[in-house]
Amino acid sequence: MQCFRHQERAAIAVCQHCGKATCAECSDDTGQGIACSQACAAEIQEAYRLTTRLKQSFGIGLTPPMPASVSMYAFFGVILAAVGAYLSFSRDVFDYLSFAVAAVFFVMSWLSYKRFKDACLIC
Ligand SMILES: [Zn+2]
Ligand SMILES: [Zn+2]
Repeated sequence: MQCFRHQERAAIAVCQHCGKATCAECSDDTGQGIACSQACAAEIQEAYRLTTRLKQSFGIGLTPPMPASVSMYAFFGVILAAVGAYLSFSRDVFDYLSFAVAAVFFVMSWLSYKRFKDACLIC
């Protein structure tokens, strides 16, 4: 396949918009695809913006639901901290164990949240 502008050059890519074969010099990488000209680059950008907006309005692929484990771990953390506080007050002895386990749950919750954040490309 030859470049549509330069017959002597081999094409390395195809324009995302009009499908013309382009050589390295003619190819314009828009980030969303290869364009053969400024006009095509603009069209590709526009199409990309449109699909992004469409996806947004349909809620596709943008914000994956927060993993249940995040709130679950946080919930257990709160419960254990409350139990720890209750035991500490009622016994007049600081209940290290409950607070330690609560802390572990909070860390677990934070870790799953962080993993969720890292996996989400748009956030
Ligand atoms: Zn083109
Ligand atoms: Zn060319």
